[in-house]
Amino acid sequence: MNLSRLRQELSEVNRLYQAQLRVVMSHKGMMSGSVYLLRRKCGKEGCRCRRGELHESWVHQCRENGVQRTRMVPKGMRPRWRALTDEYRRFRLARREMTRLSARMLELADLIGRARDAREDIVKG
Ligand SMILES: [Zn+2]
Repeated sequence: MNLSRLRQELSEVNRLYQAQLRVVMSHKGMMSGSVYLLRRKCGKEGCRCRRGELHESWVHQCRENGVQRTRMVPKGMRPRWRALTDEYRRFRLARREMTRLSARMLELADLIGRARDAREDIVKG
């Protein structure tokens, strides 16, 4: 790969990196885990859930000290908790991308370094 192509790719990777950095540096709050609608049977005799009308409740599930925990989402908090867990997922994804992109940036820096190396001048001289 020629030097100008390498520079071009490094600029592009840097641009993508900056976009991930903005996600990580956001002021938005976040919360690990996920919010979803839990549908279940209660087991009571004659209950409507026996006829397939399952009980529904919004729950938040996350891992705490390695243990899976499920709790009810407080009334009226579903949109906020959804937004918080969505933001956490965005954060984690951005961080993962930063790892990948920074590794590529270092590779490109090394390739550029090699392409810029003028040592052969010395050999010729
Ligand atoms: Zn029931």
